[in-house]
Amino acid sequence: MPIHNTTSNPLVKAPAVRFAPSPNGLLHVGHARSAMLNWQFAKARHGTFLLRIEDIDITRARPEFETAIFDDLAWLGLDWPKPVRRQSDHFAAYQANLGELRKLGLLYPAFLSRAETSARISETERTGRVWPRDPDGAPHYPGDDRRLSPSERDRRIAAGEPHAWRLDMQAALDGLDARLSWAEHGSGPSGETGEIIADPGEWGDVILARRDVPASYHLSVTVDDAVQNISDVIRGEDLFAATSVHRLLQHLLGLPAPRYRHHDLVRDQLGRKLSKSDGSTSIASLRQQGASPEDILALARIRT
Ligand code: GLU
Repeated sequence: MPIHNTTSNPLVKAPAVRFAPSPNGLLHVGHARSAMLNWQFAKARHGTFLLRIEDIDITRARPEFETAIFDDLAWLGLDWPKPVRRQSDHFAAYQANLGELRKLGLLYPAFLSRAETSARISETERTGRVWPRDPDGAPHYPGDDRRLSPSERDRRIAAGEPHAWRLDMQAALDGLDARLSWAEHGSGPSGETGEIIADPGEWGDVILARRDVPASYHLSVTVDDAVQNISDVIRGEDLFAATSVHRLLQHLLGLPAPRYRHHDLVRDQLGRKLSKSDGSTSIASLRQQGASPEDILALARIRT
């Protein structure tokens, strides 16, 4: 199969990058690393550094965390064009893109609850069969709903049954006339770099609109990177595998593909990636303990 790769002329224009945190907790030193790598990349090339607030999870996003993001980044010495793009203001754009995928016949309503999904998986695993898992270790969604007739789908939606919208991954892959790849200028967790062949199938039928929110991470990040003309996506290597899904969505929606520069993560003494739920590593708490911006950048392994 031929490969749909991404070619770009580096002479054409100055880059645009984005740092895209979710306001569901305080930023930690790992976020400082990502934000600063984006910032330095843009500054060195007379490019644009954008801040994007990824708050589609309206159940967890909180205004005080958004304020803390602005405050921590400004304290680190960064600035960005205002107003920032806040994803919760753009559900209509995500819906429009979902509509495109629906027209292509690649979406289906997924009615199984989390409990029903787990029950289906355990039932199968009890028979000794291995259930497929995605690169993050989550089990693939069972295919049951994919087989519902259009009239049954319509009936259940009209009856108000809660449902997410999922991508029919097999149908999407069957429609490809070439393999997808992306230009990796950083590296993945195992040092992958250069032209990377995307493997979206390993994610199964990803969610594109959640039960409670009319969008999903994969959809909103793909749409926004295109809307904001992002030339280079600089983010942690924990999102390396997700790039396969983003490349597929870009292809299906006719959106341009940025270059990618995944970077290594800041880890704790046990080698675990930092997490927002561990407040001890938050930039805010280190500031309160008297750390300077230079101290944070040193912890974030940023060379100035
Ligand atoms: N909002 C995502 C996060 O906070 C980052 C998304 C991305 O950089 O693609 O992990």
